[in-house]
Amino acid sequence: MINVAIDGPAGAGKSSISRRAAATLGFIYIDTGALYRTVGLHALRLGADVKDPAAVEACLTGDLHVELRFVNGEQRMFLNGEDVSDAIRTPEASLAASAVSAVPAVRAYLFDLQKQLAHENNCIMDGRDIGTVVLPDAQVKIFLTASPEARAERRYEELLGKGMDVKFEDVLADMIQRDYNDSHRAIAPLKPADDAILLDTSGNTLEQSVELVTRTIRENMPR
Ligand code: C5P
Repeated sequence: MINVAIDGPAGAGKSSISRRAAATLGFIYIDTGALYRTVGLHALRLGADVKDPAAVEACLTGDLHVELRFVNGEQRMFLNGEDVSDAIRTPEASLAASAVSAVPAVRAYLFDLQKQLAHENNCIMDGRDIGTVVLPDAQVKIFLTASPEARAERRYEELLGKGMDVKFEDVLADMIQRDYNDSHRAIAPLKPADDAILLDTSGNTLEQSVELVTRTIRENMPR
């Protein structure tokens, strides 16, 4: 199977770019952030303090079922059978995802699921630690980044487009906080793999970034 790992900070365009590049290449696209968001939402719903690792770990009981299904080719997330694909996109769920993702038991809980998906499919998998931890043998590794302002601007437009009532300052603050959490945590911090190709998407249109990423994958994948 051909596995492409795309890592980078929030808002670099990983998911929109990866989804389109995967469609062009005929691969499936797996958004691993959605897995952490689902666990974060679960913890929030249980009323757990997501900043308390022991409280988060206590949410990982045998009754928890996190499932990733493809519906009409689109990834949907199910939490104990309920489709939570929209509910995991709120700013609260973003921060909860970032908090629970620092808990080793959560990363271990989601590790096998990610490995198995990559084992069974030609895929582009995006996240924070795909090239470094989950798929260290991925044939192509890309680290996608952009300035914090460019990333916040994109995320802001995306949330507005979904009809959410958000302020730009809040989105930027959330972005900076998550960058800090993700790159300073002890476990699987956000950093490029040694053999990752670094791509900066600041100032690019989505089409330009998709073209850049698709070309980079084609040039670097085994034939
Ligand atoms: O990519 P997205 O913004 O949806 O990810 C939500 C959160 O999940 C991130 O802020 C990050 O803390 C966490 N995450 C992670 N490892 C991944 C993917 C996401 O820690 N592979």
